Amino acid sequence: MKITGIELRRVAMPLVSPFRTSFGTETTRDALLVHVVTPDAEGWGECVAMSEPLYSSEYVEGAADVLRRFLIPALPGSADAYAVGRALEPFKGHPMAKAALETAVLDARLRASGESFGRFLGAARDRVPCGVSVGIMDSVPELLDAVAGYLDEGYARIKLKIKPGWDLAPVRAVRERFGDDLLLQVDANAAYTLSDARHLAQLDAFGLLLIEQPLAHDDLVQHARLARLIGTPICLDESISSAAQAAAAIALGACSIVNIKPGRVGGYLEARRIHDLCRAHGVAVWCGGMLETGIGRAANLALAALPGFTLPGDTSGSRRYFTTDITPPFVMSDGHLDVPTGPGLGVDPLPDVLDAVTTSAEWIAL
Ligand SMILES: [Mg+2]
Repeated sequence: MKITGIELRRVAMPLVSPFRTSFGTETTRDALLVHVVTPDAEGWGECVAMSEPLYSSEYVEGAADVLRRFLIPALPGSADAYAVGRALEPFKGHPMAKAALETAVLDARLRASGESFGRFLGAARDRVPCGVSVGIMDSVPELLDAVAGYLDEGYARIKLKIKPGWDLAPVRAVRERFGDDLLLQVDANAAYTLSDARHLAQLDAFGLLLIEQPLAHDDLVQHARLARLIGTPICLDESISSAAQAAAAIALGACSIVNIKPGRVGGYLEARRIHDLCRAHGVAVWCGGMLETGIGRAANLALAALPGFTLPGDTSGSRRYFTTDITPPFVMSDGHLDVPTGPGLGVDPLPDVLDAVTTSAEWIAL
């Protein structure tokens, strides 16, 4: 199966409300879609890089550039996702750009053979429990209203974004208002240092499932030190860029839980390797989110259905982020989302909606 050409399509989708983390505020999702065309089938991949290099070093414009300049010209002759991974390996970094391209090729291949992403990856269930990530708010009452709304919708787990100055008080307030049974965790997006250990240890009182990425992305050793100073289990996100990095983190005792984001690790094949590694070591994993459209959400649901994903992920319903998604929306039922079962991703962009949010499109013939 040869690739005829690839379309790079930029979309701008307004978020239902601004999403604030320790590193910035998003009001519109500026996403890059990779659309692979072959004679037999077409495939889609979503690049999860943000507009600015704040979550990681990647950003949308840079991802588009490395795709057109280096990654797409290096594609192998046939549309084989494993061969794509090998062909892109010599290029350092850019995991989100690589992931989008590999996913689009894999999607085309699976659509051609009639196999779903979930079946290909090894999904063990047909629906997954949904958690929701709640951004930093201006006030605790505003946060409590937001959490109450999500719990009314049926979310099974709440994650609060935290940063210095917005940590103990919001966590205490949510715990007191919604009780000890609420599955609650926090995400610092690397906003603290090891010298904050005594402060972070005060979170131990609130029975959190985990604290995600408290320290810098390149601080594995310090995360291992922190793990001995606080009771809350440490989960790593930004630090885990590959299966090798996950192996190092586990060996060091830097984390006891891993947030797997396919974009951050270079694609779904590497994401599955991390899942397998963690499962073999008894390390729980869950699927993170990057404000994905329905394209990325569909693939994440397939991944989150693997047997080692034992904690609810950030795989929320579409309306958590978008009034109108570019695919038919993922609608939560009883706190769960169904894993798509159709060929490939199992969802297609709606042409009219996609065109309406497209800001640029570029065709690269191969
Ligand atoms: Mg995170």
